Amino acid sequence: MYAGFDSKKQHQPEPGLDAELEPKADVGEETYRGSGRLAGRKALITGAASGIGAATAIAFAREGADVAMSYLPEEEEDAQRIAGLVQDAGVAVLTLPGDLRDPGYCRDLVARAVDGLGGLDIVVNNGGKQIFNEDLTTLDDEQFDDTFKTNVYAMFWITKAALPHLKPGSTIINTTSIQAYQPSEILVDYASTKATINAFTKALAQQLAPKGIRVNAVAPGPIWTPLQVTDGQPQEKIESFGEQTPLGRAGQPAELAPAYVFLASAESSYVAGETLAVTGGSPTP
Ligand code: NAD
Ligand code: MG
Repeated sequence: MYAGFDSKKQHQPEPGLDAELEPKADVGEETYRGSGRLAGRKALITGAASGIGAATAIAFAREGADVAMSYLPEEEEDAQRIAGLVQDAGVAVLTLPGDLRDPGYCRDLVARAVDGLGGLDIVVNNGGKQIFNEDLTTLDDEQFDDTFKTNVYAMFWITKAALPHLKPGSTIINTTSIQAYQPSEILVDYASTKATINAFTKALAQQLAPKGIRVNAVAPGPIWTPLQVTDGQPQEKIESFGEQTPLGRAGQPAELAPAYVFLASAESSYVAGETLAVTGGSPTP
C-alpha cells in the first residue's frame, strides 16, 4: 500500500505543519471507513491537528464519536482541515488550541471539552515533543523540562482533571513509543518520557480497572509526521526514516488510527494496562 513512499530531507520550525510535509502524510482522509464502533461517544484528543492525533480524530469521527481537538495555536491551518473532516462525518467538533505545558490550559481544556460535548468518555493523550540532542552536556534544562511537561505532565494534568467526568466504560489511551524500549542515543529526554508513559499507563490501569475505566497505550514506531522534520531527527536520518524496521519503511498516521479505535471501543473490553505496538515489526517486550 505504501511501497512507493520516499521521504526527503526537509526542515520545519516547531511544531511544524502536515500541510507542508513532502510527501504528504496519509491521515486516512481518503481511506478510513467507520462502522459505528464509537457511536455517541465523546472524545478529547491532544495533538489532534496533525499526524497520529489527526488520523485518530478522523477515525473516531467516522466511528460516530464527537471530538474535542487540542493543538498549538500555530497549527490552526492543520486544525481547521481536520476539524472540517470530523464535521463531514456528521459529529460535533470542538477546536481548543493552547499549550500543554501550562497546567491551567490542561484543566481548562478538559472543562471546555466536557461542557462543549456534554460529557467525556474517551481521553487520548497524544500531544508530544521530540527534539534530538547528541550530547547531554548541551541538552539544556529548558528542553528537558519542556519535553517532560508536554509528554508526561500534560498527560497527568489532563487525566486527573478528566477522571471525575469519566463513567464506567470510559477509556484512556496514552501515546508512548518504540523509544520506551529501544532508546536512541540522541533522544535521552524523549525516550525517558516514553518509558514513563508506559509505567504511568500500567499503574493507572490497575487503579482504575475496578471503576470500569480502561487505560492503555499505543507505541508507534517511526511514523511520517511533522514531529520528525522539526528536529525530531537529524536531517541525514530523514531520507532513510523507518527503513531499519522489519517492514522496511516508515509508517503512516493512518496505520495507527485502528489501534486507537480498538482501545477506545468496547471491542477491547478485556484489555487494560496494555501497550499496543505499531512498530513496523520492531520487537517490543
Ligand atoms: P505531530 O507533530 O503531528 O503531533 C504532535 C503534536 O503534539 C503537535 O501537532 C501538537 O499539536 C502537539 N504539541 C506539541 N507540543 C505541544 C504543546 N506545548 N502544547 C500543545 N500541543 C503540543 O507528530 P506525531 O508523530 O503524530 O506525534 C503524536 C504522538 O506520537 C507524540 O506523542 C509522539 O511522541 C508519538 N510518537 C510519534 C512517533 C513518530 O515516529 N512520529 C513515534 C512514536 C511516538
Ligand atoms: Mg502538528
